[in-house]
Order: sequence, then structure tokens, then C-alpha cells
Amino acid sequence: MPTPLIAGNWKMNGSLTLVEDFGQAFADADLPEGVEMALMVPFPFLQAAGRAFAGSRLALGAQTLSDQPSGAFTGEVSGEMLRELGAGLVLVGHSERRTLFGEDDAAVLARVRAALVVGLRPVLCLGETLEERDAGRTEAVVLGQLEAVCDALAADERTRLVIAYEPVWAIGTGRTATPQQAQAVHAAIRTRLAAYDAGLAEGMQLLYGGSMKAANAAELLAQPDIDGGLVGGASLQVDDFLAICQSAG
Ligand code: 13P
Repeated sequence: MPTPLIAGNWKMNGSLTLVEDFGQAFADADLPEGVEMALMVPFPFLQAAGRAFAGSRLALGAQTLSDQPSGAFTGEVSGEMLRELGAGLVLVGHSERRTLFGEDDAAVLARVRAALVVGLRPVLCLGETLEERDAGRTEAVVLGQLEAVCDALAADERTRLVIAYEPVWAIGTGRTATPQQAQAVHAAIRTRLAAYDAGLAEGMQLLYGGSMKAANAAELLAQPDIDGGLVGGASLQVDDFLAICQSAG
């Protein structure tokens, strides 16, 4: 069984005060054994978060990165800069990046590579829209997004990924996938990974994201192929996020 991972994605939310609150709460909290926890904060908060989370079990992550190592790319942030600020993880291919910022499969792959090169763990996000689900194309879409990255990576690179299944229709809508719906897609992802390598499939942390909250986390996390969560809205409340972390233990 992969180690459970609960990761919060603040998106373009939060504040320096909230960073301090999380640092304090996670330093003081009685946290479950054997659960990894991480928070993906906006770039400007990374340095403060690195300090605030130091000594706690909360790992630091970013929400995107440039596909370039350095250079004349105004407004971009490189993987090396994220490493320097203490980030260990980075989201890649989040549906908001895909749909709002035009990141296609090639752009996602380039960012995965940029993360791996500097030793960041890419959290590769996959998910179908409601139209795609209604058309019976969920598996085709999700596995297509998976293959667009995994086919291009070497075996040892694939093992460094984390994968998050986030149905687009469940993100920020309050409409969570049922545990059965999520489990079915997770199982399909793991089966596809097994076609690359059985050990890869067994060891991969497969996270569910999409309106996960304290009230539904335990039921989702109880599914055999759900190894953790990628939490948006509920990761902005210390108590809610702590409760979700507890339910992964
Ligand atoms: P919500 O938990 O707010 O639905 O967001 C999910 C998400 O997109 C996490 O990356």
C-alpha cells in the first residue's frame, strides 16, 4: 500500500497570516502516523511557508512551474527557484491550468520533465469534464492524459510521480464524485500503470480531488485505490484540513 498523502491546494487564495496559522496548528496538532501531508501555496507565500512549516510534518509544494530552467520568460518561475525555497512537490496539469491557461498534454509533459530534472515530485492531475463523462469517455480521457506523460518518461521517472484524479465537474462545485465513481477511475488508472510495471502500479500514490471535505474524506479514502486527497476549498480552513488529514490515518 502506498503511503497516504493529503495535499492542500490553496489556488490563488490565502494570506501570510493563514500560512502562520497553519504552521502553528501543524506544529501543535496530534497528527496521524504514516500519513504524508503537504500544502501547495501561491508563489509569494513559499518562503514564509517554508519557515512556518519547518519542523512540522507539513511538506511544501507549489501549484505550477515553468517548463524552462531560466531565461527571458517574464513572470515565470522555475523549478530550481521552487527547490531553493524548499518546495518538494509541484502540481502539474491541474484542470484550471489546462482549461484557463491553455496547457495541453505537451505543455504538461514539459512541466513534468522540468520538475523531475530539479528533483521536485510532480503531482500530475488528470480529469474529465462533465460532457466527457456523459459521453462515456471518462476512462479514455483520463488514461489519455496519463499516457501523454507516462509514455514519454523513463521507468525510473514514472516512479517519482504522484497522480491526482480530479473530475472537473467536482472541482469547487460541492458535487463530489461518489466513492464508487472515484474508485472505478482510480482502479482504471492503477491497471493502466500496471501495464508499464506492476511495482509502479502498487507504489503509486493515487489522490482523489474534487470537493473533498471533512465530511466525505473518510469514505473516499476507504476505497482500495484511493491513497489520499488533493483538497482545494477545505484546505483553506485549518480545522477542516486537519480533520481530513486525521481521516487518512
Ligand atoms: P475543491 O476541493 O475546492 O473542489 O478543489 C479541488 C482541487 O481542484 C484541488 O486541486
